[in-house]
Amino acid sequence: MSDQALAAANLLERIGRLARMEEQTGDLYPAQWAVLRYLLRANRFSRTPMAMTKYLATTRGTMSQSIIALERKGYVERLASEVDKRSVNVELTVAGRNKLRDDPIINLAGDLKKALGVQTAHLSELLLSVMAQLVKAQGGQMFGLCKSCRYFDKGGGDTARWPHRCALLDVGLSEPDGDRICVEQEPA
Ligand code: SF4
Repeated sequence: MSDQALAAANLLERIGRLARMEEQTGDLYPAQWAVLRYLLRANRFSRTPMAMTKYLATTRGTMSQSIIALERKGYVERLASEVDKRSVNVELTVAGRNKLRDDPIINLAGDLKKALGVQTAHLSELLLSVMAQLVKAQGGQMFGLCKSCRYFDKGGGDTARWPHRCALLDVGLSEPDGDRICVEQEPA
């Protein structure tokens, strides 16, 4: 193991810890912020407790506690899934969306932009390849963007509301869906 790789790993770990400290204020815990963030980014097939458990690499019990706490605070609600009526989706409420305007991760993004400027995109690419290695080693799922999925059929939809199509699930996809993350995503 090179010294530089170890130094970079320690930096990533420290940055993560410092970011968590900023999340200790207010009425949410870091794990609860992570759930709200996920729900904002995930598509309608991925806002289930099971998908959230996988993405956040936690246990079903811990995820259930986070959802209950967020429901009590009025930031999320559980609704019957459009896709599978036996299952539930967890959805952000208006209060949950408003809360995310004060998400502490926005400060971290600002610090990255200040320090790296146009190189921020390059850092994202590098981190993505590190994450891909980790996911492969652990047998997990990437949760990548829908528009970069092998099943994303660009322009394959048949209405203005659903201009694209998912060839795996055989359903229409909206324009914003392309920029959302998905539990079923497989890189093209
Ligand atoms: S195209 Fe891929 S990422 Fe998009 S909804 Fe279908 S499986 Fe998910």
